Amino acid sequence: MTDLPAFTGRVYVRDGSEQYTVHAYQYATTSEAPGSMAPSAIVFVADDDDIMLAIRYARENNLGVAVRSGGHQYLGASSTNGNNIQIDLSGREAADPSAYPYRQWSVDGDEGTVTLGAGLDVDDLCAISVKYGFFFPHGECCAVHVGGHTQTGGLSVITRTFGAMIDHLLRFDIILADGTKRTVRRESTDPTDRDLWFAVLGGSPGNFGVVTSITVKYLNDADHPKARGFKMAWFFRQSTLQQLVQIINEINDDPTTDPDFALTVIALGEEYDPALPSVLPDTFDNQMMRNYPNLVGKDRFHWVVPSIVVFGVWTNSKGPGQDDSHVDAVFERFRQMPGMLSMDLLNRLFPNDSLMDGTQTMVLSKIMQSLTFENPREFNMPCKKLLWFGKNTHTMSQKNEFGVTFAEWVANKMRDVESLKGLFEYYGMKAAIQVGMVGGPGLANAPIRTALGQRDCNYWFAFDIFYDPGVAGTLEKTIEFTNALASDVIGNKLNLWEDNKERRVILGPMLVSDEKPILDELWPLYYDGPDVYNELLRIKGELDPHHVFTANLFCVGATSCQRLVAAPTS
Ligand SMILES: Cc1cc2nc3c(=O)[nH]c(=O)nc-3n(C[C@H](O)[C@H](O)[C@H](O)COP(=O)(O)OP(=O)(O)OC[C@H]3O[C@@H](n4cnc5c(N)ncnc54)[C@H](O)[C@@H]3O)c2cc1C
Repeated sequence: MTDLPAFTGRVYVRDGSEQYTVHAYQYATTSEAPGSMAPSAIVFVADDDDIMLAIRYARENNLGVAVRSGGHQYLGASSTNGNNIQIDLSGREAADPSAYPYRQWSVDGDEGTVTLGAGLDVDDLCAISVKYGFFFPHGECCAVHVGGHTQTGGLSVITRTFGAMIDHLLRFDIILADGTKRTVRRESTDPTDRDLWFAVLGGSPGNFGVVTSITVKYLNDADHPKARGFKMAWFFRQSTLQQLVQIINEINDDPTTDPDFALTVIALGEEYDPALPSVLPDTFDNQMMRNYPNLVGKDRFHWVVPSIVVFGVWTNSKGPGQDDSHVDAVFERFRQMPGMLSMDLLNRLFPNDSLMDGTQTMVLSKIMQSLTFENPREFNMPCKKLLWFGKNTHTMSQKNEFGVTFAEWVANKMRDVESLKGLFEYYGMKAAIQVGMVGGPGLANAPIRTALGQRDCNYWFAFDIFYDPGVAGTLEKTIEFTNALASDVIGNKLNLWEDNKERRVILGPMLVSDEKPILDELWPLYYDGPDVYNELLRIKGELDPHHVFTANLFCVGATSCQRLVAAPTS
């Protein structure tokens, strides 16, 4: 590697120091193979000039550039290794974070838009939205950043009615592999703009350029005054989880269900209270959280017993005149579920957590803020993540070929993890499961075609197992458990797909059994057909012929990048 150019932003070179290690750390670091997420240099770019310098340096030295904003990519594809470098747009190392160009935002009331820098996170989006009384679809994890989130769709609790974040985009700014900066507009007829619109919004993040900002057409809170939110909790019981998932599946299976409803169940094994002595291990993730909250993000919410949360919304998409007389009955099904913790108790335990029982109207910006998950990761441990989208519009609540409902199967699996430990013992595995409604009219009527796949889905299902690497055999046990679980799903024994076609999503890629993170092999699981992937390959070839933005094998066309094939980076 030749000498690095003179960047204005801070640079950390791979030198074995603690400083390098902590700045290389991101969501997937402890879950992926050691050394797979170790760029030769991490450049906390100060501005467009730094980005262009990094691109030129990579081109001249035949290197790849990995782009990171929030570092939440499930497999660590926003990082790299070997001689490749990583650029970071989070602004966390900026001399003056408040002036950092990629954390700026502005509202144009005449146009009805908000422009957002790539380095802003979901917490920022919520705060801006609440301040101005507007909303638009975006995800629920506080630490997911605009840079990656835009390119993986931006799916939201309101996606069922209002689509994905990208459906509301008017334009984005991007720096391309030839070093030019471009504003790509939704209505542009220029062929390169059309290609970029298609490929960047859901194609494969970070493969086509560096997104520096986006402009979103927002929706007004005031136009949806009857909206209601729901977020209530139960202590974990297998039977409670089964019944709650079953209610959601019955609602989702019913063709007459109002598309304004979207509901999700989350079940979590117990966490710890930092104020109390913890039985949980002091993992590297935990040390990072404790010692470098400015790099990782703050843990703000702790549940001390295994619990279940149902969260959801009724969006009042048609405005003030819309009939809402049927809304209460749907939320009442959950309120009637035995064991629901009282609002009073929950509000005393978690005063900042804005519980909602669906009885009161609330503006959508505040509902979305209240539904944000307030920790950067579910558990401070490495994990194996499983995530599928389903397309079954009417039989998820019925018995499958195991002779059980999906709800029963999920609850059994969660029990299997939870029952591995006693009250004061700890056996090294923690589960987080989520089952919910997604898709529907908003997704199906996406205004402009992009490469984002699975827009015809109506269901989502995630099962994450976090494990303690310090407990002998736990990684092996976790792999065995997740592979067995995946085999039930992939074999479609649970009827997740009416047409038997497995569907995964680019927002949360995953690997099971002996799969390798090679997008050129796994693409049929992520995109709607070969035409989409072939189009992505063509665009990649035309706009990034030297593979500047190919820093690992989970990139479009990476297997034709000689540099990677000669020395695979992951
Ligand atoms: C705990 C958790 C909760 C999540 N919840 C949701 C959710 O509710 N809804 C949802 O839709 N998604 C959700 N996601 C997925 C998340 O939206 C995607 O992983 C997203 O791509 C992360 O973006 P990032 O910038 O934070 O991460 P990064 O790891 O920095 O980036 C993700 C990808 O985008 C590329 N990229 C990042 N920034 C740029 C940029 N400025 N220019 C070009 N390429 C860039 C990276 O190279 C990488 O491939 C969740 C993920 C996690 C881990």
